[in-house]
Amino acid sequence: MDLGLEGLRAVVTGGTSGIGLATAKLLLAEGCRVALCGRDAARLADAAGPLRAAFGDRVLAERCDVLDKAQVEAFRDAVVARFGGADILVNNAGQGRLSTFADTADEAWGDEFRLKFFSVIHPTRAFLPALEKSASAAVVVVNSLLARQPEPHMVATSALRAGVQNLAKSMSVEFAPKRVRVNAILLGIVDSGQWQRRYEAQAKGGETKEQWMAKLAKEKGILIGRLGRPEEPAAAIAFLASPAASFITGASLEVAGGVSRFA
Ligand code: NDP
Repeated sequence: MDLGLEGLRAVVTGGTSGIGLATAKLLLAEGCRVALCGRDAARLADAAGPLRAAFGDRVLAERCDVLDKAQVEAFRDAVVARFGGADILVNNAGQGRLSTFADTADEAWGDEFRLKFFSVIHPTRAFLPALEKSASAAVVVVNSLLARQPEPHMVATSALRAGVQNLAKSMSVEFAPKRVRVNAILLGIVDSGQWQRRYEAQAKGGETKEQWMAKLAKEKGILIGRLGRPEEPAAAIAFLASPAASFITGASLEVAGGVSRFA
């Protein structure tokens, strides 16, 4: 099936690692021009180098912290200057917070609120005028199954993921008359930068990454029996962002290996 992505202009926040990087690669392979951002200059250079070598000037890579409104607006200006507009926005930047109610201080709740909400609000607000001018506009919010299925050891992330789900639904309703579709994916556990960091922090003497991941998949009840690979959510994101999904808005797609306990 041709997704119809050829020639579209895509923005991927947090595109320097894991799911964002896999999404940027897939969108480029499908013929998009892709702008990606991240905060860390070295990670940005490492991600952008091979992409530029493979896809040339269809790649734009900029340093940008999505929590900094001025930086997001500067990123938007760079994208519009280079690509003349934007058709797709993938709000992917972020990370989870491991903490229970007992050990989440008020400041941490505030930090997590800012990360989860403003990583969506700032880029969406900045790119919306460009998206409104597109004939095929789509926003994809990378969210987590924690929105529906909270985990006590990620209490703040879970609660705020539920809020982001609610926000994405409201945006889909408000933006529909502007012909901007908004959908979300709800991730289970996908092997990426943040899980590599947790493996390094948690693995016990000599445990390989594969052993640690297999144990984790069993503990978490992942029916498919393994963690996801970044390319798997990337495929779901590319589909929802594409003209092939032209009648889909306000939807949430679980990409979680069947771990969901809810119908
Ligand atoms: P990675 O850590 O591999 O990648 C995160 C990306 O986001 C990096 O490019 C990082 O670059 C960037 N980033 C983080 N904070 C900011 C910021 N404030 N501004 C701009 N860029 C930022 O993680 P994943 O690929 O696993 O995660 C992608 C998204 O999916 C995240 O939002 C995560 O919370 C979510 N998710 C992932 C799950 C999983 O199992 N992997 C499960 C549920 C949700 P840099 O640090 O240089 O800024």
